Amino acid sequence: MEMFLYLGSIILVIIAQSKVQGAYRKYKQINSSKGYTGAQVARKILDINGLYDVVVEVSSRGTLSDHYDPKAKTVRLSNDVYNNSSIASISIAAHECGHAIQHATNYGFIVIRNIMLPSVMLASQLSWGVIFAGIIFKNNLLVVGIVLLIVVLVFQIVTLPIEFNASSRALKILSNENFVSQQEETDVKKMLNAAAFTYVAGVISSAMQILRLVMIANRDD
Ligand SMILES: [Zn+2]
Repeated sequence: MEMFLYLGSIILVIIAQSKVQGAYRKYKQINSSKGYTGAQVARKILDINGLYDVVVEVSSRGTLSDHYDPKAKTVRLSNDVYNNSSIASISIAAHECGHAIQHATNYGFIVIRNIMLPSVMLASQLSWGVIFAGIIFKNNLLVVGIVLLIVVLVFQIVTLPIEFNASSRALKILSNENFVSQQEETDVKKMLNAAAFTYVAGVISSAMQILRLVMIANRDD
């Protein structure tokens, strides 16, 4: 059972990664009929929502490094997303703008996430070292490590509605503003769902890791 949880948690993440990369490769080839690039779509969406001060620029970190930086108020899009008008490009650009809108409107889960962020970063840095020490020395550090992982898990769970909300905003805006045809909406949905699945897989994977460690902690030897 412990082995199953261990392997399962790893395989699930690999499946999710290959799913999103597969979807990206597929929808990168399909051009949207309206021909707007990711950068143009992002600029328009931000302007429509009054976010004139949010900047759109190219991310230097390569493929699928697209993100919204709330501190710099900047939507950073990878080169392909920024310059191309594929279904993948405009879906991702619209999703990142969804995060910018969440930030500007103080979307509840974003507020919770930002409050949690510093302690979660610390917890995730410390957790595996503490767990390792707990297992080696067979002491309560293992329990401490599990608690740290649970903190990280709660954070991952709070991230889920944020990601789903950004994607549903993206889909709604793309169709309302006629950035995509009705047929293309299905493809946008598939691209966004593949991306969202990586977050769901992350949550399940973490829960499996925690369960495995709880079993190890309860092992009588
Ligand atoms: Zn996102």
